[in-house]
Amino acid sequence: MKSVKLIVHGGAGDISSDTLGIYQKNLKEIWQSGYNLLKEGWDSLSVVEKVISLIEDTGVFDAGTGSFPNKEGYIEMDASIMTSDGRAGAVGGVRTIRNPIRLARLVMEETSHVMLVGEGAERFAEQFNLPPLTPRESPYSISTDTVGAVAMDKRGLISAGTSTGGIRGKIPGRIGDSPIIGAGTYASFWGGISSTGFGEDIIKFGLAKKIDILLRQFPAQMAVDMVVEESKYRGIEFGVIVLDRLGNTGVGYTAKAMAWYPR
Ligand code: ASP
Repeated sequence: MKSVKLIVHGGAGDISSDTLGIYQKNLKEIWQSGYNLLKEGWDSLSVVEKVISLIEDTGVFDAGTGSFPNKEGYIEMDASIMTSDGRAGAVGGVRTIRNPIRLARLVMEETSHVMLVGEGAERFAEQFNLPPLTPRESPYSISTDTVGAVAMDKRGLISAGTSTGGIRGKIPGRIGDSPIIGAGTYASFWGGISSTGFGEDIIKFGLAKKIDILLRQFPAQMAVDMVVEESKYRGIEFGVIVLDRLGNTGVGYTAKAMAWYPR
């Protein structure tokens, strides 16, 4: 029986210390409820889905109800989820679903595909009676982003997930790194990863898969430190949380600040 692990993040960016405090409080409460579920025996996939759904519902982060609108003033959200036994699902550009992470899991479990986007994703969602999005402007003046979680359950299954409203003022139809398996999210025998930051750079850098490869030789924090070091030469802005197969966590960011828990 493995000891359970959970790590969550609430984005990286130019976050003031007051705002960071608010993020940390929200993340801590949600982390505690997710951790309790893992101890009760929930599988890591369900816990990652649950925890990210709760964060999407806070309206405080750029995900779910708190998502930034695009350039034309409406919300388009991306999310993905993956397990260490090789299952993955993702959605891109969804507009009407309250919890894109739940839809990502349904794509994984109910289709033979990995990603559905836009209208097709919305039509697929119709059969599941998912709650609709009720957008809420964040009560805080924020410049943060994406949320994510990585968990290991009692059986040793690792799951990772990421959810976002994308970058503020994006062109309609733009998809960031968050739903891209190997960029925003990855999980394998070696561990699980959830990223945040400037999606275009993260996709080109192949951030999550790059860390996954390093996890074959190095513990989580060392793998994170290595990509942080490499990214310095390329000016890439990101933050990342990692859990390796032995239960070690790693956190790193090149942005000004990052919200995560436990810290
Ligand atoms: N990575 C997300 C995106 O580019 C946004 C973020 O994490 O800030 O869509």
